[in-house]
Amino acid sequence: MSTISPIIAGAKKQKRPMMRQYELVEKVLSYDPDADEDLLHRAYVYAMKAHGDQKRASGDPYFSHPLEVAGILTDLRLDDATIATALLHDVVEDTDTTLAGIERLFGAEIAGLVEGLTKIRRLDLISREAAQAENLRKFLLAVSRDVRVLLVKLADRLHNMRTLGFMPEHKRKRIAEETMDIYAPLAGRMGLHTVREELEDLAFQVLNPQAYTQIRERLRELEAESADTLTEIQGEIEKVLKRHGVTAQVSGRRKKPYSIWRKMRMKRLSLSQVTDIFGFRVIVDEVEECYRVLGAIHQTWKIVPGRFKDYISTPKLNGYRSIHTTVRGPKGRPVELQIRTTRMHEVAERGVAAHGIYKDARDQEESEAGVTVPAEISNAYSWLREMVERLEEGETPRGFLEHTKLELFTDQVFCFTPKGDLIVLPRGATAIDFAYAVHTDVGNATVGCRINGHHEPLLTQLNNGDEVEIITSRAQEVPPEAWEKLVVTGKARSAIRRANRLASRADYIGLGEDILERWLEKLDHRLDKGELAQAFPKLGVLDVEDGLEALGRGEIPVGDVLRAMGLDGAKGEETAIPGKRATDAEGQLNVRGAVIARGLERDLPIRISPLTGAVPGERIVGIREGGEGVTVYPIFAAALEKYEEATNRWVDLAWNEAELDGALFPARIMIVVHNEVGALAEVARIIGERGANIENLIMTHRASDFYDFDTMIEVRDLDHLNDILASLNHSPVVSQATRFSG
Ligand code: MN
Repeated sequence: MSTISPIIAGAKKQKRPMMRQYELVEKVLSYDPDADEDLLHRAYVYAMKAHGDQKRASGDPYFSHPLEVAGILTDLRLDDATIATALLHDVVEDTDTTLAGIERLFGAEIAGLVEGLTKIRRLDLISREAAQAENLRKFLLAVSRDVRVLLVKLADRLHNMRTLGFMPEHKRKRIAEETMDIYAPLAGRMGLHTVREELEDLAFQVLNPQAYTQIRERLRELEAESADTLTEIQGEIEKVLKRHGVTAQVSGRRKKPYSIWRKMRMKRLSLSQVTDIFGFRVIVDEVEECYRVLGAIHQTWKIVPGRFKDYISTPKLNGYRSIHTTVRGPKGRPVELQIRTTRMHEVAERGVAAHGIYKDARDQEESEAGVTVPAEISNAYSWLREMVERLEEGETPRGFLEHTKLELFTDQVFCFTPKGDLIVLPRGATAIDFAYAVHTDVGNATVGCRINGHHEPLLTQLNNGDEVEIITSRAQEVPPEAWEKLVVTGKARSAIRRANRLASRADYIGLGEDILERWLEKLDHRLDKGELAQAFPKLGVLDVEDGLEALGRGEIPVGDVLRAMGLDGAKGEETAIPGKRATDAEGQLNVRGAVIARGLERDLPIRISPLTGAVPGERIVGIREGGEGVTVYPIFAAALEKYEEATNRWVDLAWNEAELDGALFPARIMIVVHNEVGALAEVARIIGERGANIENLIMTHRASDFYDFDTMIEVRDLDHLNDILASLNHSPVVSQATRFSG
């Protein structure tokens, strides 16, 4: 049995004569006797006539291209509709043919497939970022509708890469880049191993011709050194297996320059350190025999540590199964072996095409009802489908690109739990990603890790074969927010974000409830959730918890909530419901006449600096903002320094006491609070009890003993502010409260 597939044979530059019509049809019939012969004949003749005397860059008749593409797909043994589609894949774009015409002549199925290919033909997948994301989106949408579109596209790209030499140089590089970045990984994802390998090797030749040439030279050298080592080693392996009573087919192959290059980079080897250039494959009938072969090999030759991988018990995501091992073979040469069954070999060579279910996979219901899709195969589709779902969930192109790149361009690392369970992660993943891949609860409680038995930092990037033990602590309920930026997997990132949001949400709901309770107490009113359910919708918030959270976060002033509850009647000065805010969300002053400007030629809009706030009683100045209006700062604001030279921008301002009307003005204060239960609520109580609003409360620093809060409160005037600062500074939970002058 020859394992050099026809696909690889095609890569050798021997020019084979154009396949004839009957050869193509015979070939399809040889693996699918039920194929629609007439359809294939018609598609062949139609495409040949449509392309007429068009020529390829190579000077060949254009029709040789769709024919070669069809030929590649017959090697993958695809169905008649796919082969017909391959023949027709360029006619809509390049000739007078219309899709309607294709549908009339060949039916809706083939027209649909040709349409998919026509849609993606001009997409530039490696253009500037935004366009790239959008194009990648269109591309994945088109190919996910029917995986046969992708298979034809991959074959199309493979033939174009084989004939790339005829293209002008600047185009060559771009096509090769796109092949390396998008098409080769996609072929790998679909389990088309040989297609992937050839695409990578052809692209590598163009992208890094020097490295390619050097490696090829080195391969020649090594081969010359030991003339027929390949057949020698093959014979040795056969002998060993025979002695152990195993029937198997053994074949050897030379590795491709690109796979050697990848290994050199991954293992940081120099070219002279590259010695294993041959790979051997042992193919048996039954799964048990794979392990018998492995036993026989390991008993005979010494195993090279770290190279044994059992992808039979734990298949790759694309369904690939095999045992990999490397031993010190005859003459001490490293010998790399892949051991698999005939069926596994099928899948390894042909990927999704090996399953014959690819037609149904675009219709999940159909395949679930009729054909049982083995879990390992449906992975290739589910990945595509997942990608498309993300698109439909309306992820931004940028975010989408980030995900896709991670999952498409990054190889995987295989790691193990101490119990031996396999965890597959993208390359670059950390122990934190690992913890989240095990379980979200584990991730959230992670405090440390041991990798291969040694304590390591949680941010350690994992390598293939690492055994990772996660150390958790019940004391950690919420993972550090900073992890979100450090992890690689989407799962970990969103779990960390969610845990943090949920944790602070609970805090803020509690705070909102506290604030409200204090006020209601003073008004002799009991907190009643039913009443809140009536009140919050008046403020545009439908859910009570959302409302309390917004209150706690200062997004809704407590006065508004009380008013919405119908508690307008205030009981004396002490319990006055906080007044209306003097400024809107942007700091725009909405109390007319509150500030008097001297020497201002016209009525410019006035806003209070959101950086510092400013309250009546504080000395203030205005700064002209390039004709847009005037920003009010307290005179002590450090921000004013940068306007020192620009005296023409200064505006003389004063508060107009008569017009203030009890409105609340913003003042930014900094509060350092002891870390103890109820401290935050106490701060809120002090501020709320004195008729001020907490507009914004941001924790800026959290040490073990103290919290720093950067707070915007709303007060009537400087006396009111000073009263609050004094009360805060008297409170045992507050270490220090100061007006911000930043
Ligand atoms: Mn084409």
